[in-house]
Amino acid sequence: MAGRNFLFVPGPTNVPDRILRAMHRAMEDHRSSDFPSLAAPVLEDLKKIFKTGSGQAFVFPASGTGAWEASLSNTLSPGDKVLAARFGMFSHLWIDMAQRLGLQVDVLDAEWGEGAPLERYQDALAADKTHRIKAVLFTHNETATGVTSDVAGMRRVLNETRHPALLMVDGVSSIASIDFRMDEWGVDLAVTGSQKGLMLPAGLGIVCASQKALGLYEQAKLPRVFFDFGDMRKANASGYFPYTPSLPMLYGLRESIGMLQEEGLDNVFARHHRLAEGTRRAVKAWGLELCARAPKWNSDTVTAIMVPSGINGAEIIDVAYRRYNLALGAGLARMAGRLFRIGHLGDLNELMLLGGIAGAEMAMRDVGVPIDLGSGVAAAQEYWQGTAAQLPRRELPPRAPEPQSTQPAAKKATAGAAR
Ligand code: PLP
Repeated sequence: MAGRNFLFVPGPTNVPDRILRAMHRAMEDHRSSDFPSLAAPVLEDLKKIFKTGSGQAFVFPASGTGAWEASLSNTLSPGDKVLAARFGMFSHLWIDMAQRLGLQVDVLDAEWGEGAPLERYQDALAADKTHRIKAVLFTHNETATGVTSDVAGMRRVLNETRHPALLMVDGVSSIASIDFRMDEWGVDLAVTGSQKGLMLPAGLGIVCASQKALGLYEQAKLPRVFFDFGDMRKANASGYFPYTPSLPMLYGLRESIGMLQEEGLDNVFARHHRLAEGTRRAVKAWGLELCARAPKWNSDTVTAIMVPSGINGAEIIDVAYRRYNLALGAGLARMAGRLFRIGHLGDLNELMLLGGIAGAEMAMRDVGVPIDLGSGVAAAQEYWQGTAAQLPRRELPPRAPEPQSTQPAAKKATAGAAR
């Protein structure tokens, strides 16, 4: 199909040309004396993205799922009890992994569309007088439902109940897009993948571990090999990896961190909020509901939109893809067919997102959703234009003087020229 594919799934996200160029390298020896000058600064600079000074960053050739496994297997032992809320597909999958690894999971089931239930975490932790719960699993941004939960609030609950459990946070679709403060919020294991806010292809599972989490490594008896923190720390200490790392991904990660720092993390978060808010205005103009059941849970990286009864959300996605070259996110598991998702994270601006919103409108109309074409586009435009004055001003060089005429001055007509 001519023209470019409009990628509006909530990961993988658009990879900026700058990152693609940085990744376009001939392969190098990962045991060369030069290699540490690439890997060591990347591992150090990553900590700034997680906002940790005392934590340690691990980069595995994996995806977010691998980073989940690393966080569990390096800190816990078979039969350990963990506490986790389930309110969407990804919080469910992390719980499923914990169970399959042999952990005992106390599950707090909540409605899909709600955020993590802090009061119920509080009750469970307060009741756990003997501190059998070793870790709390917390999904910061539930990508399946477009819901963001309160990590700082979870830390307050742990502090108020004086509970020593580790705080493990899935930040796969929040870190580098939504405010995240590992040290300030007392997060012990923060997990992400490369294909979302970091604007890279999938291929890296990234974990930052606190000193408290690292201190549990020796006593943690879950089996681990590929994801072993100990092997990784030993090799990373001299700037190497225990196995073959992906060179292009490391070059890409270096560029990605550079881009995020140039824009400034606060500006990155503000941009994501602005894009998300415009998308929510569009949904309101369509007369549709968000899956997120209260504004406090609205996600700034993905909007999940409930489709009217009698309409299959999967059809909207299929038509959008085949007719308009637009990729939208599907409803997952119990939300299959009931919603579709617009991912708005990573390397994105207002005009790009208007393309996604316009395409969603056409696909919805094609399958019989009664919306006015242009209504969502206009609502997003109104919001973005009305708030454009609040954007950080881009410093422009002084305007060049008006170009002088480049025509040679007219020659005096001569008798010869007149002929
Ligand atoms: N956690 C969340 C919140 C996610 O959105 C995803 C993937 O979309 C994952 C975990 C799993 O990550 P991956 O697909 O990179 O393994």
